Amino acid sequence: MLYGIISDIHSNLPALAASLDRLSKLHVESIICLGDIVGYASEPNECIRLVKENADSVICGNHDAGVVGTTSIDYFNFMAKEAILWTRGRLNSNEDEYLRELPLVSETDDFLLVHASPHNPERWHYVFSRESCSTAFEASEASLIFVGHTHRPVLFQQLDGRLEEHHSSRFELGEGERYLVNTGSVGQPRDGDPRASFVTFSSEKRVVEFHRIPYDIDRAQEGIIDAGLPRELANRLRVGF
Ligand code: ZN
Repeated sequence: MLYGIISDIHSNLPALAASLDRLSKLHVESIICLGDIVGYASEPNECIRLVKENADSVICGNHDAGVVGTTSIDYFNFMAKEAILWTRGRLNSNEDEYLRELPLVSETDDFLLVHASPHNPERWHYVFSRESCSTAFEASEASLIFVGHTHRPVLFQQLDGRLEEHHSSRFELGEGERYLVNTGSVGQPRDGDPRASFVTFSSEKRVVEFHRIPYDIDRAQEGIIDAGLPRELANRLRVGF
């Protein structure tokens, strides 16, 4: 099976549409979304509808939970909070209900899916470092874990008790090793590359590939500015941070 795994769309419809278009050209057989469909940009309902139509498995992110009030937004920074409150006022009831029903974790024979970390997923811990990755591995038995949340694509490999961090665009998974793969963000990348980020995973070939897709950033920025959301949320899309 060839999977397309997307995360952190954040209401950025042009980025989501461009990513789905590329996934279809890559002949992906199943799409997975690791959450944060909403927050930051201006088209939450449209993004939820597209994810609902296209993804076979969808996980809840902290912004999704924040918008529907199932997690506290006290710890969100000013801009994130502004965008969450703005989104709350615009979410249609079907879309609101959809976000409420999303699970925090999902596991198949091949992998575990979670937005932030398998270690207390409802606490939304960031897996940036080898140390936090090690805690994530301890909290799960899965040999392959897909996460989002940091908006930075990376692959951590655990072999012989050692953890290595990889940034190559293609990675062949070995037997008897463990991996944690961060897909990066579709709608608000933060690794200095403004293009939308996602991964594909072939369960037959055991290959993970990282993809970067250009999209209409001007349109996404206009939407944010026209909505009266903090201007910085538009500016950061241009620089990928
Ligand atoms: Zn996010």
